[in-house]
Amino acid sequence: MPALTGQSPEALAAWLADHGEPAFRAGQILEWVWKKKVTSYDAMTNLPAALREKLAAHFPLTALTHTTTQGSADTTRKFLFKLHDGRYVESVLIPANPALYGETSDRRTLCVSSQVGCAYGCKFCASGLAGFTRHLDPAEIAGQVLAAEQLSGQRVDNLVFMGMGEPLANLENLLAAIQLITGPKTLHLGARHLTLSTSGLVPQIRQLAEHPQQIRLAISLHGATDDVRQQIMPINKKWPVAELFDALDYWNSRKNQKLTLEYILIHGINDDLEQAAILARHARRLHAKVNLIPYNTVEGLDWVRPSDTRCRAFRDVLKNAGVSATLRLEKGHDIDAACGQLRLKQETTEGLIAPAPIKAR
Ligand code: SF4
Repeated sequence: MPALTGQSPEALAAWLADHGEPAFRAGQILEWVWKKKVTSYDAMTNLPAALREKLAAHFPLTALTHTTTQGSADTTRKFLFKLHDGRYVESVLIPANPALYGETSDRRTLCVSSQVGCAYGCKFCASGLAGFTRHLDPAEIAGQVLAAEQLSGQRVDNLVFMGMGEPLANLENLLAAIQLITGPKTLHLGARHLTLSTSGLVPQIRQLAEHPQQIRLAISLHGATDDVRQQIMPINKKWPVAELFDALDYWNSRKNQKLTLEYILIHGINDDLEQAAILARHARRLHAKVNLIPYNTVEGLDWVRPSDTRCRAFRDVLKNAGVSATLRLEKGHDIDAACGQLRLKQETTEGLIAPAPIKAR
């Protein structure tokens, strides 16, 4: 049964009309759910009891059941949610003022998941280890933001779709969720505070370029040439860098927002300064900024983080070429070491996925 938090204002109004309810009830219900953020139908005190009962019989209020929080109010917090089919999904709330992906931020940022598991198998990522299970629906995506605000008591003012899953592989549900997140009657967060991160799905990048909202795009690049990138990103075999950069040129022709190129630095794999020089040329042409992220160990994978000296040298090649580049050198905490790890542990414990992690190489 679809949750109330997945209903668009139009769908809710249509449902109310079908059930003989006056149109103004839609506004009241949306206000309770998205603005007052109540957690039960009983709290919707200006609705008649009969309508509350009817709503409860048709829609669970939310699609997510919170099970665990790791971290505390002044550190990064990871929320684990159980879904209706027993699967798990996680969201990470990053508080104001830590260095976020190399930049100091005064915004509270939520890292949102878009799928259970992931089919894309990027070699540095825990989410890809157990393969793909299913897409999240709009209530399960937008509901993460609402739940994070309920649990933290704080407004989330920045979203990054960098949690579990490849958001562009679930584009239809993602766009429906974005309507709920940005809509004036629902969460009302500005589209330019949303960043979608993709492993490089070329057709969907082109499709999203036509979307009217000024959503930001980040590319999980991690290699500036095909031979290097495809060691890390299996998707590169399907859409090599030349096709990816063509799609990014198209994106730039349709959007005003600056692209971000994400680049995890892995010792001996992609940290050669020649890669830095090639990356600099691409980034300059695309007017993109580059986030350099020294590799953090993932259980089951055996890559190594480069030295700080090598990371700085890589960054300096970019900076000297006039590219805006950030580098976060402090070690990742256990909690934010990689997306998908908490869910992976929980589902393994419950026997939902096989315990043995796959070796990267
Ligand atoms: S980085 Fe993203 S696209 Fe790649 S395997 Fe992990 S979740 Fe999937």
